[in-house]
Order: sequence, then structure tokens, then C-alpha cells
Amino acid sequence: MPGIYIHIPFCRKRCNYCDFYFITNLKSAGRFLACLKTEITISSEQEKDESYDSVFFGGGTPSVLPASEIDSILNHLHKNFTLSADSEITLEANPEDFSAVKFRDYAEAGINRISFGVQSFLDSELKFLTRQHTAEDAMNAVRNASVYFGNINTDIIYSLPSQTIKDIDFSLSAAAGLNVSHISAYTLTFEERTPLYKSLQKNLVKKNPESLEGEFYGFVSEKLISSGYGHYEVSNFARKGFECRHNLKYWKYENYAGFGPSAHSMKNGIRRNNFRNIQDYYSSLEKGILPVEEKIILTPKQKKSEYIMLALRSSGIYYNDYSKTFPEDFREEFGKPFEVLLKENFAESNEEGFFLTEKGYAVADEIISKYFWT
Ligand code: SF4
Repeated sequence: MPGIYIHIPFCRKRCNYCDFYFITNLKSAGRFLACLKTEITISSEQEKDESYDSVFFGGGTPSVLPASEIDSILNHLHKNFTLSADSEITLEANPEDFSAVKFRDYAEAGINRISFGVQSFLDSELKFLTRQHTAEDAMNAVRNASVYFGNINTDIIYSLPSQTIKDIDFSLSAAAGLNVSHISAYTLTFEERTPLYKSLQKNLVKKNPESLEGEFYGFVSEKLISSGYGHYEVSNFARKGFECRHNLKYWKYENYAGFGPSAHSMKNGIRRNNFRNIQDYYSSLEKGILPVEEKIILTPKQKKSEYIMLALRSSGIYYNDYSKTFPEDFREEFGKPFEVLLKENFAESNEEGFFLTEKGYAVADEIISKYFWT
């Protein structure tokens, strides 16, 4: 079944490394909610027969909205689409936004998974990343959330300048010690258009060399696997049964509908991107027109490259699924890389499929661009 992504474009303050689309003026939240509901209504007229089993509120910072507003969006979704009774419904949240009551209200609104932007459990690192919370806020938020939610993710960012393995160990141990069901661990990236990138250009900060990033990656994987988390995507780890259903749809190349500024949708090989700019998003919807900035019909070649990339970065290539999607046998089509990657222990295979090993995950992007990206 497909999933639904809702982009909530508000943040209290900019973090120096972030290039997601967000605005810091919360005054237009009313206008945004009206437009979002219009978008959902118009889209539902075109997707009448579709049923969904995941909703993901991402951003931005969805937790800046009160539970009553999340509740009203969910009610509107229920009115316009069929959501299965056991849908996974995730809310991305920042630790500084919470009191115990707010968690209860979100749970009552229907949220059943919380994904915290923790990033680190060390105050010095949070300061470097210009986050608005402290390590103590993060500990308290996760503990309080655990009363209402059995499914909690924490995002951790590592490979900060001058960071050591001991620092990374501290944050991962803290997250695992809180018994969260899911941990997403990403290396710090220096995206153009961010204040952090400007600092890099001015030589105020230094990016870690690739060899050190590789060492950190190996440590993170080992640490989380030995703490009982399955490594099910290059940057994602979960206790058994807590893999993120919504994100699996992206990685399995399934359909999803995205609402909100900058949201993407995918349906049967056609990708639609919404306006990123909120004024363009408003003006389109206030005229009763879907805010689609770009519609891309993927070529068979693009589809195949994307499918292989997403599959190899996560659960691997299953031969039957592959030949149902593309009329080819993966082993014959990619015979040479298949043999080389197996021989060098970057991959393993069985009767059902072909999967990257931990050694392969560590260099997944290089493998994909060398052998599979056309
Ligand atoms: S809170 Fe999240 S979305 Fe907002 S600026 Fe920071 S990293 Fe970006």
C-alpha cells in the first residue's frame, strides 16, 4: 500500500547545517493549514480508490504545531482517503517542544511513532549544530514520550569536526540506553546554501577526511548492531519489527503521495514535485490548482538505476521482484559486478536475492555509481 508524506514547513530557528525547506514565521500557520487541506481534498478526487497504511509528518518541525492542528489534518486525511486501521503515523519532533501533556495529546490525535531530531547527547555538539535543545531536554523528551509511544526514533548526526569515537559512542549509548526502537545515524554533510557550508569555505571549520568518515561509519554500525539494532538501510537501524514502514516505501520504490511545500510524490514511475516556495504553494492552491512545480516521467533507464540504488542501500535486490519490475534477470544483466562484489565480500547472495554486506554498505554509493548507475 502507498504512504502519505505531509511537509510542515515551520521551524523556530534555523540550524546551521540544514537545507530543508522551512520558514521561521509561524504566523501563517492558519493559511498553511487551509491550503494543505485544499491540496488533500483536490488530490483525493484523483485518487479515490487508493488505500494507505502510513502517514509521515516531516519538515521543518511538525511538533511546532499543537496536537489539535495535527488532529485536524489527520481527520481531514481520514475524510478524504482510506487509511488502514493499523497505519504507522509518524511525527518528526524537536526535543524542546514538549511537555508530558503534549505527548498525550499527540497520541490521542492518532500519532503512534515519534521521530526526534536529537542529533547528539553532548551539549558542546548541540551548540556546534546550533540546535535549540540541550542534551538534558533530549533525555527528558524521549523518557516522557516513552510513556505514550512504544515506537520512537532518534536521529543522530556524527562526523562533526574534531569529534572522536568516544564522543560518538557517548551519544549512541545514550540513545540505546533510552531503549528507543529505531536510530537513524547520518554523517554531517555540508550542503551548499547553508551557514555551515559558508564556514567551510572560509576555513572556519574542517570536513573530516573520507578515511575517518569510513572509520566512524564502521564504529556506528558495529556499536548499534551489538546493541541489538538491525542494520536495515545504510543509515538506519531498528529493533526487530520496528523498521520504519513509511521509509521502506521509498526504498522499495513503492508509490507515495506528498503534500505541502517541497513535498514529492511518486506514482508508477511518475514523480511530482510541489513548489518549494510557500508563496507559490499558497497562490496555486488559493486558485484551486494543485501546487505541482515539476512532473517527471522517469525513463526506463532512470527507473532501473533508482530502483537498484534504493534496494542496494536497504534490503537488497530480490530476483523475483526485480524481474517483475523489469523484464530481466538481475544476475545475467549485471553478471560482472555480481561476481566481483561477491568475490570481494562487498555483497552476498542466496537463492532469493543479492545484498550488500556491512563492508559493502560502507561504500554503497561508490559501488552504485561504479556498477549500476547509468
Ligand atoms: S529543526 Fe530540523 S528542519 Fe528545522 S532547521 Fe533545524 S534541522 Fe532543519
